[in-house]
Amino acid sequence: MAELPGHARVVIIGGGAVGASALYHLTQMGWSDAVLIERNELTSGSTWHAAGNCPNFSGSWSIMKLQSYSTALYRRLGDEVDYPIGYHVTGAVRLAHSLERMREFEKVVAMARHQGLDFEMLQVADLRDRYPFVETHDLAGGSWDPLDGDIDPAQLTQAFARGARNAGAQIVRFCPVTGVRRQKGEWVVETGKGEIACEYVVNAAGYRAREVGRWFLPYGGREVPQTTLSHQYLITEPIPELAARDAKLPILRDPDSSYYLRQEKDGLLLGPYERDCRAHWTSASDPMPDDFSFQLWAEDLERLEWYIEDACGRVPLLGSVGLTRTVNGPIPYVPDGNPLIGPMPGVPNAFEACVFTFGIVQAGGAGKVLAEWVTEGETEWDMWSCDPRRFTSFADQAYADVKGLEIYGHEYAIGFPRYQWPEGRRKRVSPLYGRLEELGAQFMASAGWERAAWYARPGDDTGLEACETYEREGPWFEAVGEECLAVRDAAGLCELPGFSRFEVVGEGAAVWLAGLTTGVVPADGRVGLVYFADDKGRIVTEMTAHRTDRGVALLTGAGAEWHDRDWLADRLPGDGSLALVNHTEELTCLVLSGPKSREILRPICDADLSRPWLSHQTCRIAGAEVQLMRVSYVGELGWEVHCAMADAPAVFDALWQAGAPHGLTPFGLYAMDSLRLEKGYRSWKQDLSTDYTVLEGGLDRFVRFDKPAFAGKAALQRQSQQGVAQRFAPLIVDAGRCDAPYLATVWKGGERVGLVTSGGWGYRLGKSIALSVIRTDLATENQEVEVDIFGERRPAVVQADRPLWDPKNARLRE
Ligand SMILES: Cc1cc2nc3c(=O)[nH]c(=O)nc-3n(C[C@H](O)[C@H](O)[C@H](O)COP(=O)(O)OP(=O)(O)OC[C@H]3O[C@@H](n4cnc5c(N)ncnc54)[C@H](O)[C@@H]3O)c2cc1C
Repeated sequence: MAELPGHARVVIIGGGAVGASALYHLTQMGWSDAVLIERNELTSGSTWHAAGNCPNFSGSWSIMKLQSYSTALYRRLGDEVDYPIGYHVTGAVRLAHSLERMREFEKVVAMARHQGLDFEMLQVADLRDRYPFVETHDLAGGSWDPLDGDIDPAQLTQAFARGARNAGAQIVRFCPVTGVRRQKGEWVVETGKGEIACEYVVNAAGYRAREVGRWFLPYGGREVPQTTLSHQYLITEPIPELAARDAKLPILRDPDSSYYLRQEKDGLLLGPYERDCRAHWTSASDPMPDDFSFQLWAEDLERLEWYIEDACGRVPLLGSVGLTRTVNGPIPYVPDGNPLIGPMPGVPNAFEACVFTFGIVQAGGAGKVLAEWVTEGETEWDMWSCDPRRFTSFADQAYADVKGLEIYGHEYAIGFPRYQWPEGRRKRVSPLYGRLEELGAQFMASAGWERAAWYARPGDDTGLEACETYEREGPWFEAVGEECLAVRDAAGLCELPGFSRFEVVGEGAAVWLAGLTTGVVPADGRVGLVYFADDKGRIVTEMTAHRTDRGVALLTGAGAEWHDRDWLADRLPGDGSLALVNHTEELTCLVLSGPKSREILRPICDADLSRPWLSHQTCRIAGAEVQLMRVSYVGELGWEVHCAMADAPAVFDALWQAGAPHGLTPFGLYAMDSLRLEKGYRSWKQDLSTDYTVLEGGLDRFVRFDKPAFAGKAALQRQSQQGVAQRFAPLIVDAGRCDAPYLATVWKGGERVGLVTSGGWGYRLGKSIALSVIRTDLATENQEVEVDIFGERRPAVVQADRPLWDPKNARLRE
């Protein structure tokens, strides 16, 4: 058995499918000085007992990329490393019980085909051709993934291990890691068999990730947001009809009934995601055992009864024989169901590849992504969906527990755009919550912050069921329209708690910032957007900047707090001349927008309201010091009023009273999204992502090539000379009942030419809008294209790359 070496460049803690894949991929990228340490035998965590299903299907672009990378790798890995892998590519049928499910499939099928996967929609009449034993009388149709299948998870892990060992990496088994410490700029990993120093350390400890994560708390870490649930599958006795077949049956998934069913040898394997699910190891009275290697829980079939019955009705063959085995094993969940892959928040040279719910199908892609993070500090695909920094301090154990249960019980739920999941709410509440609630606010959570989505009028249906649709119109539609028009004609007030706020303190702050951003740092008294690119010129993030007495202030989205904090902190000069201060929790923001804004503000504040658009000043409202920024994400005359949380009630009341005679109306995030679309303003991780460069994103006006140096300059200069192959383009879409969803495909003459990055209804224009990135030669005004909206190709016209509403920004400058 391998001895523990004294040093390695990278140490991976945990030898499940994911840790082994990470090790393998590090070696493939030339980093063979890597060691994987496993407390027991490889696969002894969740991996050994997994059902091994490997779908490509996902509603998320990046997760689909991750999974399809895996399945492509698994098709060749066995041969490449000369290790047998029991991998059966059988294809899979997904069943739809409703029109909305069919719409979900249409969207995913279009996305898959754009990624080069041969997905198909199935009509009811096709279903039995693909899956002869299925009852179809009550179905709406289905979808087909020809490259779905199942793999032996233990063999997969061993194949990764063999590939990694062949390339020079080491694996040390039966060696529990007991702690880590930082010493002389390196990590020292402490184990039962001695210590190993390393430059980089990876937490790949599966359901034990929280335990391992705690060792990093003294170094800036946080509690890993995870919970562990029990997931069961049942295997039947051999079924003669299956034994008589030549080919293995495809996998069958019934997402509306919530289970998967696949052939296992000559029997069937049924795995439900049940509503009445169980979390384990969440309290002091139910602690995680010191060792659970190769263990399972006792079967608990009672909570699966409904699903078993339903599946037997759907595939009567299933009920024709008895059960031989039940597996009830630990499956870890992050609050949104995606894993953690990437930099460990706040901790230097530490990474996470853990808490996988679908870790067998995702292991391959996760290994690639993790290895890119470690070796290059960036990833090929935008992987925000899995970035550990997406959960900030609000995601505590209680949150992880309730969200884990909610996600598991709705594992196959359709991601309706306006459905606000009820669990884990009110984690961060501003002092204005009660006031907004009284005005009819229907809240949504953004990085834990409760924000008004829309304001219901008396009699409006505020139930969740009404939100189970992709259609534009629902109980919110007219109310949101009224909010938008009030902002256009009078004024609106919207609270945005949770803006992430940083101050870079020190004399050289502005010069330092200029070296990082693609554009200019606003002058004193001015405020402006700054963009940050990576070395490839891709869009890393966007912030609003202004100068302060002590340096520069940077504001960014609620969800971006830890991402942007670490991005900035990692780039501070090493001499300690600048410090990064996080003010996020201290202040809130009231957005006052509309032509009456100045009249509303004038009597209640001592500011100079004649200062132009993009100015910044400090003044007093209701006795409180506030910052007034003359900016507007909604494209009307207006100010953002930033004030201390504690002062928010007084400031709000003053604005509200002053606004009453002018028709001041509260507005929410749905209205804001519609208004910003009409201005072509970008949204982070939709229109702004590392899948596009700053130039492809149409942000040329924020790039100053005449500056001496900035991150990404060389790449952007190259691209500027050669020209970009794809480019940002606003579209007006002749949509039907649904607006273009995020990542809808754009077509021209039967060819796919791009993707929608945001879509929605513009109430001021009375039109359906999509922001897109399409082939450059088509990104010209009046070009006719089509957008695939849930399977329907809808005509669309490319607009000039300027705001659709008030193209000259005259209303902002009033
Ligand atoms: C019943 C069931 C069915 C499933 N079916 C599927 C499926 O069909 N498809 C799919 O994709 N996924 C499936 N899953 C999920 C899948 O099992 C997991 O997502 C996957 O195994 C996670 O792999 P991992 O490498 O992240 O974690 P693990 O396999 O848990 O590996 C983590 C490793 O870290 C080690 N470790 C922990 N702490 C330490 C320490 N201190 N020192 C050293 N080593 C340590 C552990 O011993 C363990 O071996 C299923 C899960 C269950 C429960």
